[in-house]
Amino acid sequence: MRSFKRYTVAEFKGYIRRVRVRRPISHIQIHHTWRPRKSDYQGERTIRAMYHYHTQTRGWRDIAQHFTVAPDGCIWDGRSLEMDPAGIAGHNQGGLMFEMIGNFDRGEERLEGVQLHAVTHAVAACLERFGLTHDQIVFHREHAAKTCPGSSISKPWFIGQVRRAAGGQQVTSSQTGIKDISAQPSTGRVRSASSAGAWSGEILRRGDRGAKVRDLQRLLAERGYQPGPIDGIYSPLTEAAVRRAQRDLHIAVDGIAGPQTYRALTRR
Ligand SMILES: [Zn+2]
Repeated sequence: MRSFKRYTVAEFKGYIRRVRVRRPISHIQIHHTWRPRKSDYQGERTIRAMYHYHTQTRGWRDIAQHFTVAPDGCIWDGRSLEMDPAGIAGHNQGGLMFEMIGNFDRGEERLEGVQLHAVTHAVAACLERFGLTHDQIVFHREHAAKTCPGSSISKPWFIGQVRRAAGGQQVTSSQTGIKDISAQPSTGRVRSASSAGAWSGEILRRGDRGAKVRDLQRLLAERGYQPGPIDGIYSPLTEAAVRRAQRDLHIAVDGIAGPQTYRALTRR
């Protein structure tokens, strides 16, 4: 059976720096899967199911994409880098294709947190490795009557995130501008991680207030999970951000921040 290799962001950067590719790379394609959704993700099984669909049902030579970015922030390899992808009809020559697992159409799932971190850092590493500029990032919808990679993702916003990844800056809540949640009061720039992250020893839940809740909100914002205003109030927005982070990080989804949640959020 075809198997796939899984990289952390750090491993991916090391791999892409060293890999030799004889084919000229002229652009980077960005897609979302639409189906499967983030919530359907089951690790390598999901990648194999796509491989099976692409090769058996569609009749392609291999899985369509070179890399798949999972909701948990890992990156799977795919099609040989020596082959053009099967991503955008008529526009695949010289392409390097990224597929993000999820449905990022407006009102569906969100590109955020560890997955946003992974895709932006991986794309930034590929731009550098292949000597490309931000103008050579291509969204599927630029060449097809589709919303891919999702109507909630604006291209200028995405490129801004890639630039920040290249600059080594962390994504903060004021920068994760997915439209339907940016109507919240601005929380401004967030302080660096040093103040937040260590578990206080207190389990926090909806309705709690105080400095510990504020630290939790900062930590969530630094990881790209918008918790609402950073005001020390464990609001429904904060609870929803905790739940989304817990789902991405494969820990129990209860919206309550205890030791497991802190450990997962502070893991690098
Ligand atoms: Zn697409």
